[in-house]
Amino acid sequence: SLPIFLAAQQHAQSDPSKHAVVDATKQQSFTYTQLLEDAAGLRKQILETLALSAPEDLDERRIAFLIPNGYDYVVTQWAIWAAGGIAVPLCTSHPVKELLYTVGDADPSLIILHPAFEKLGPALRDGCTTDIQFMGLNPFSSNPAPSLPSFTPAFPLSRRALMIYTSGTTGNPKGGVSTHEIVTFQASCLVKAWEYSPSDRLIHVLPLHHIHGIINGLAASFLSGATVEMHAKFDPKIIWGRWQDCGSSTLFMAVPTIYSRLNDYFETHIRGTDQEQAAREGAKALRLVVSGSAALPTPVKAKFAEITGQVLLERYGMTEIGMALSCGLEVEKRVDGSVGWPLPGVQVRLTEKETGRIIEETDQDGMIEIKGGNVFLEYWRKPEATAAEFTADGWFKTGDVAKRDSTGAYFIQGRASVDLIKSGGYKISALEVERKMLELKAIQEVAVVGLKSEEWGQQVAAVVKYREGHDPLDLPALRAVLKTEMAPYKVPTVLKVVDGIERNAMGKVNKKVIIQKYWPDRV
Ligand code: ATP
Ligand code: MG
Repeated sequence: SLPIFLAAQQHAQSDPSKHAVVDATKQQSFTYTQLLEDAAGLRKQILETLALSAPEDLDERRIAFLIPNGYDYVVTQWAIWAAGGIAVPLCTSHPVKELLYTVGDADPSLIILHPAFEKLGPALRDGCTTDIQFMGLNPFSSNPAPSLPSFTPAFPLSRRALMIYTSGTTGNPKGGVSTHEIVTFQASCLVKAWEYSPSDRLIHVLPLHHIHGIINGLAASFLSGATVEMHAKFDPKIIWGRWQDCGSSTLFMAVPTIYSRLNDYFETHIRGTDQEQAAREGAKALRLVVSGSAALPTPVKAKFAEITGQVLLERYGMTEIGMALSCGLEVEKRVDGSVGWPLPGVQVRLTEKETGRIIEETDQDGMIEIKGGNVFLEYWRKPEATAAEFTADGWFKTGDVAKRDSTGAYFIQGRASVDLIKSGGYKISALEVERKMLELKAIQEVAVVGLKSEEWGQQVAAVVKYREGHDPLDLPALRAVLKTEMAPYKVPTVLKVVDGIERNAMGKVNKKVIIQKYWPDRV
C-alpha cells in the first residue's frame, strides 16, 4: 500500500479543498495540498541547512524537533519523511535534562525548534556533546491558493522513518525505530479495524512524541484522507464544548486519565446546567471513542457511558508494535476489562514465562508475544536489547502478561516486571486490584505495587488518593470493604494516602519511582 506521506498526495489530487489539519491554536485550516506545499518548502530548507542536495543524501539522518501539537508539527514530520530522514519527535513537556537524554541517545544531525521552544536552544546546545545543527521554524499560516509540489520522493520503503522513545515506565526510554513500511502497516491495521474514512474528523489532544498520538491519531487519519483538529493540549472544558458544536467531529482518542477528567468536569461543571443536554448529545453523536496506553478502569468506562451513551473501545499497543489488540466496532464487542482481539495482520500469542510453552488454554496468564508487519525494526543503537526482546522464532516479547477467554478476547494483567505481584505463593495482578479499588466511590486514584517482603516474597501495597468530599478510609476499614470484593490474598496490606499520584505525559504511573519514593528500602 501507499506510504502515508504519499497517500497525502493522492488525497490532495482527488480533493484539492480537503482539509488535513484544523489547528485550534492558530484558528486556521490547512488542506492536504497546502501540507504538501509547506512540507516541500521545509524539506528544501532542511537539505540546505545540512548542505545536502538530493533526498537520498539525508539517508536516514535523524532530525529531532520540538514543536507544539498543531499544523507546524505535521509539516515538519512530513518534510523529514519527504527528505528521507528519520523523524525524532521530542516531548514538549520534558525538562531539559530529559530532552538531553533523548538527544544524546538519538544523535541527530539537526534539531528544529519552534519559536515556542527557542528559549531552550542555549541549554540544549550547551548540553549536547556532539556536533548538532540547530534550525528555527517559521510557523506556517493558511495560504488561500497552495499548489501541489511536483517532486515525488523516491527511496525504498524499507528506509527508517520514525524513532519514538518508549515511555520509560520500566527503565530508561529506548528509541524504537520503524521504517516507512512498518509505520504504514501500523496505521493501515487501524484504518481497517476502525473504518477511518475521509468523512472522519478526529479531535486530537494527545502528546506527539508517543505512538498513540502519532500513529492512531495522525498517521491513520492522513492515510485515510480524514481531517485532524489539533489542540495544543487537553482541556476538558474545550473538549466538551467542541463536542457540543454541531457534531463537527466523529472520532476521539485518549488515555484513561483524560476520560476520568472529562467525567469529573461533567459532574462538577455541566451536570444540572443548561449545557447538560447539548453536552451529552454532542458526545453521543461521535462515531467512535477509543481508550488506550494504560488500563481503562471499568468505573471510568461506565461513567462515561452513563453520561454520553458512548461505550469506550479499548485497545492495546506499545511503541515497539503500534497497536496489536482491539475491541470491536460493534458495541457488544467492547467487553469490560478486555482489550479485545488481534488487529488484522497482527499475530498474537501467549507463552509460559518460565518455559516458553505456547498457552492454548483459556483463563491462564501468559506473556504476550507479537508477530507481523506492525513490529518495529530495532531499538536505536541497542542491538543487544533488540535481540533480547525477540524469540528464536522471531516473535517480539512485549513483557506484558494477559489471559484469554473462550472467545479469544485478551485481558491485560500488566507488566511482568512491575504489575505482577507474587505474594505468599499467589500471583496477583496489580491492574485487577486497582480496577476493583476504583469501584469504591471514595477512591479517586490508586496505584498498586509489590513491596519486597521477607515473609511473603512481596506484599501488596496501595497508594491512594481519596476523592474530595468522601471520608478517607484507614487500612483496616479499606481492607474490610475490599475483602467483600476480592480474594483476601489480593487485598493490600500496606496503605499510603497521598494528595496525587505522579503521572508522565501519557498519564502513566512509574511504579518503580513510586516504590522508591515511599518505600525506598523495599524495592
Ligand atoms: P518502557 O517500555 O520505557 O518501560 P512503556 O512500556 O510504558 O515504557 P509505551 O510503549 O509507551 O512505553 O507503553 C506500552 C505499554 O503500555 C504496554 O506494554 C502496556 O504495558 C501498556 N498498555 C498499553 N495499552 C494498554 C491497555 N489498554 N491496558 C493496559 N496496559 C496497556
Ligand atoms: Mg515498554
